[in-house]
Amino acid sequence: MSGVVKLFVGDVIRTRKKHPCGGDVWVIERVGADVGMTCRTCGRYVLIDRVKLERRIREFLERGSEETPLLPPLLPPRPVRYPEPPRRSRRPEPAPPPAGPRRRIVKRAGQT
Ligand SMILES: [Zn+2]
Repeated sequence: MSGVVKLFVGDVIRTRKKHPCGGDVWVIERVGADVGMTCRTCGRYVLIDRVKLERRIREFLERGSEETPLLPPLLPPRPVRYPEPPRRSRRPEPAPPPAGPRRRIVKRAGQT
């Protein structure tokens, strides 16, 4: 590849050098002076100098969007439903201690 390699968030690339885990497919997550990408094999996120990465790219498997989405896309994104952690059913508050007549221990000196 010659010239400037354009990288987009969402690109899926294969690198010449393998990740220690053995994977060589990466998903670009962040593009800047450094490029953040996630290893598809082990899920590790790494930041790499953009220039270094450009030299290591073997091929693009998928391309992300050409433009950096500054504005929200016209189509509403599909709502992603994350499974909510099981909400604990509200347990009734612990019953207050039985409210009996308050015993007052009053010591009256001198009286019988
Ligand atoms: Zn990996």
